[in-house]
Amino acid sequence: MRVHIFWDSQSPDGYQMPVKRLIESILNIRTELTENPVRIMGYVTARRQVDAQALLDSIQAYKRRHLMMEPVLLVVPQDLFRNSDSFVFGLARESVGAGVVSTARLGNEYYGRAGSDDDHIDRIAKEGAHEIGHLLGLPHCSDPECVMFRPDTLDELDRKKKVLCPSCREKLDAVTGAL
Ligand SMILES: [Zn+2]
Ligand SMILES: [Zn+2]
Repeated sequence: MRVHIFWDSQSPDGYQMPVKRLIESILNIRTELTENPVRIMGYVTARRQVDAQALLDSIQAYKRRHLMMEPVLLVVPQDLFRNSDSFVFGLARESVGAGVVSTARLGNEYYGRAGSDDDHIDRIAKEGAHEIGHLLGLPHCSDPECVMFRPDTLDELDRKKKVLCPSCREKLDAVTGAL
């Protein structure tokens, strides 16, 4: 099975291929990278953020229109929020195979630190692999170094390694091996 990565044209350019390769190596899957064809919905001017749920609705509608069955991960530059969460790094809707990741808070610059392409790429890949993991049926994991651990902060995200723990690895292999 193939997983689609839709890269928004305003997301950092030049990161596409390194992120794609890292996600493939973390999850041991194949991905198809294309420029994002989905309309960016849910921008809230007062918050200067995008409602992640509205964006997932938009991906869902696109998939339905194009009879797309494979999971889709959308990478966007806009900062995301959800209901009571003032921000989310990303969000997945497993039932329809749609996920989204924001690059906004994954760069050092956002936190007033010196920029690093490698840091930014690593974090987008870890978050992207995490959301795709949900789309492939993986729940959250209590191992703070596992990609499926749910990070609340950048430090927690950085503590995660670019691998699944043995237990999540086994669960995912059971899914992808069966397809
Ligand atoms: Zn999660
Ligand atoms: Zn795990």
